[in-house]
Amino acid sequence: MKLCRKCGVEKPLDKFRENSRGYLCSPCTDCRSISNKTYRKNHFERLKKIRQHPEQRKRDTASTRRWQARNPEKARALELAKNHKATQNLSDFYIKSLLRKAGINKEVVPSWFLESYRFYLKAKRLIRGGDA
Ligand SMILES: [Zn+2]
Repeated sequence: MKLCRKCGVEKPLDKFRENSRGYLCSPCTDCRSISNKTYRKNHFERLKKIRQHPEQRKRDTASTRRWQARNPEKARALELAKNHKATQNLSDFYIKSLLRKAGINKEVVPSWFLESYRFYLKAKRLIRGGDA
């Protein structure tokens, strides 16, 4: 058991993260989670700018790839859920993938065409009463 320096509650050791030097951090994981959420909320614009920086994007992509390699089942499940959501919502991502399958270069397709195709798919779903 260890005393959290933030909330003052005594908690089991697995409720404390280990820092890079191998020592347990003083705030418990619950307190840390709350302060991290608050920080992200209060610094949203600044963090967004950092996330969009090309170098940071490269690092994030590499980090994601490493996580996917370590957690292949979870990565696959997330990918399937993302594709399902995109299909349900007729997202640009989904429509562009349909166009790619049809051999149409998505780079030269104007936005009005994407919108028209979206309406066409919606209409097709309505007529079928199911998924297109
Ligand atoms: Zn705490």
